[in-house]
Amino acid sequence: MDKYITEYLRLSQDDDNAGESNSITSQRQIIENYIGAVPEFSGLPVKEFIDDGYSGTNFERPGVKQLLKAVRKGEVSCIIVKDFSRFGRQYLEVSKFIEQIFPYLGVRFIAVNDHYDSNNHKGTTADIDVPIRNMINAMYSKDTSKKVKSAKRTQVQNGVFSNAFAPFGYMKDETDKHRLLIDEPAAEIIRRIFALAAESRSAFQIADRLNADGVITPALYKKRNGSKLAVNDTARALWTNGMVSRILRDERYTGMFIGGQHETTQIGSGKKRHTPQEKWIRIPGALPAIITPELFNSLAANRQKFKGSTKPNTDRILYKKVRCGYCGHVMQYIGDAPKPYYLCDTARYTKQHGCGRDRFREQQIIDAVKTAVGSQIAVMFDMENLCRNGKKELSQGIRAAQTAAERLDNEIGRLQAFKRQLYERYKGGSIDKTTFMCERETVERDVNSKIAERNALLAGNDEQSNTLNSAHEFFGSFLKYQSGIEPTSEMVNELVEAVYINDADRIEVRFSFRDELEQVIKTLEGKI
Ligand SMILES: [Zn+2]
Repeated sequence: MDKYITEYLRLSQDDDNAGESNSITSQRQIIENYIGAVPEFSGLPVKEFIDDGYSGTNFERPGVKQLLKAVRKGEVSCIIVKDFSRFGRQYLEVSKFIEQIFPYLGVRFIAVNDHYDSNNHKGTTADIDVPIRNMINAMYSKDTSKKVKSAKRTQVQNGVFSNAFAPFGYMKDETDKHRLLIDEPAAEIIRRIFALAAESRSAFQIADRLNADGVITPALYKKRNGSKLAVNDTARALWTNGMVSRILRDERYTGMFIGGQHETTQIGSGKKRHTPQEKWIRIPGALPAIITPELFNSLAANRQKFKGSTKPNTDRILYKKVRCGYCGHVMQYIGDAPKPYYLCDTARYTKQHGCGRDRFREQQIIDAVKTAVGSQIAVMFDMENLCRNGKKELSQGIRAAQTAAERLDNEIGRLQAFKRQLYERYKGGSIDKTTFMCERETVERDVNSKIAERNALLAGNDEQSNTLNSAHEFFGSFLKYQSGIEPTSEMVNELVEAVYINDADRIEVRFSFRDELEQVIKTLEGKI
């Protein structure tokens, strides 16, 4: 059996927003125009494989399965798609096929609108990276976010260590960063803390003792060991009872793996939320133990003592959000006063940051936060509006471009018909070879320039509409707040990363989505 060329077409729900430019008919036309324009394809059999209504995030698609079966049987010489994302939306899978499997089987791969032809890229893979990565970047779907989340959860369930940092006392295995090893000098400090607690010393007394002996704190230890992340210049040089208590409450030191305390709410946003304790995953013996479970449990009776000086109240609107503008640490909340307030605890331990012991009334901070959140939301609404109008204009532009492209398609069709006639006239002897060759070259040049013109018309539209769609989705996610003018604790929790208190009248609200916002605005520049 002779090898044939294949066209692969795919359409799914998630392509809806791209409008007509992704329809099966339009994909087919793009590919057929391409085939018509490449002389070496003329006369070769073409077979079509279609997946209508299948997402590109996996390869569980009947059409693609048939196609790959034909590839394995050695029937296929060339696969042509409109763009990489038609073939698949998963970078690793797609590049595996294009970089390894297809070349190995001698199958040529062409993505028309990405201007990719594997014949031009033999032995190099650098060029496929760019369009595929663009395609991945253009995706921002919730679907993917869910997948990452569940993959992470599976990883956690398998006892794989997937946090960015090893807890104090441990370090990551150089050869396998998902494994933890005991970091002996730090583990020695942990053991000492537990030993002191076993002598019924309070967390305060233990902190004092460690400070008196000049024992290095976890933050400074991390810094000294070259960690560039999560350590700022304000790393505490002195132990506090809070730091000691945290260690004494941490069951991981018995070798217990605890995972799944947080989950990312939206991919790419870096925003995380706490998961309820019953959803945590606990695996005894999954880590190397620094202390025995017996020692840990024997302290259970005293554990009350190792709680912080104020008991955490996670319902509080600004829970863990209020930070001192001088030292950067979370401020202490005094909730049992007639008018609850915050103050910085650092001054008790060191004067080096210039923190005072001023009290800042909770209500005053809440008011400031609400004002800031309110105006931020207003900005989001404006942006949402801009995106919505931008999309409307773009789709008008796309329609115009499509009409123009259709006109070009017709011209291309006419030119190709003319080319066939030329050939017949030459065969029939009514023109000589030189005339035929010369005229054919002119026609081909004409066809190629029209195809280029046509592709230029449509190129960029997909990217632009993807950008607008993801920006619109981003801003649109704030619309849920429209009805509630009064910011709620849930809203503050989601939108506010931290509130820095410099002075009573200098309260700085830092929003959790500011990097994302900046990114979205940057990609939007010049597009609306
Ligand atoms: Zn402070």
